[in-house]
Amino acid sequence: MSAGPCSHLDEITVFELPAEVAGCEDCLRIGAKWLHLRICLVCGHVGCCDDSPNRHATAHFHATSHPLIRSLEPGEDWNWCYVDQVALLIPVVTGETRIPPSPLGG
Ligand SMILES: [Zn+2]
Ligand SMILES: [Zn+2]
Ligand SMILES: [Zn+2]
Repeated sequence: MSAGPCSHLDEITVFELPAEVAGCEDCLRIGAKWLHLRICLVCGHVGCCDDSPNRHATAHFHATSHPLIRSLEPGEDWNWCYVDQVALLIPVVTGETRIPPSPLGG
């Protein structure tokens, strides 16, 4: 892959998105509610966005230093690198994930 705005593409291990997820892993564990879902492309952790009360996707980055997430929202295919602070498309990551409706109605 050519040099782009993000230098972390070689950390990706999730090239095929899961067919279905139950929701934010951490919210489900503590009985909290999420707005939008993001998946870590390094380990597959499913967390919630920064507009969610607990911001678990960002918390996962701070806990693990895994830099890349992708939106799991229907019709969205953007990715975000926390380290480079850049949104980017990563065509080698394919698939579409079925997600439950947000418990917050978002
Ligand atoms: Zn990066
Ligand atoms: Zn969450
Ligand atoms: Zn991760």
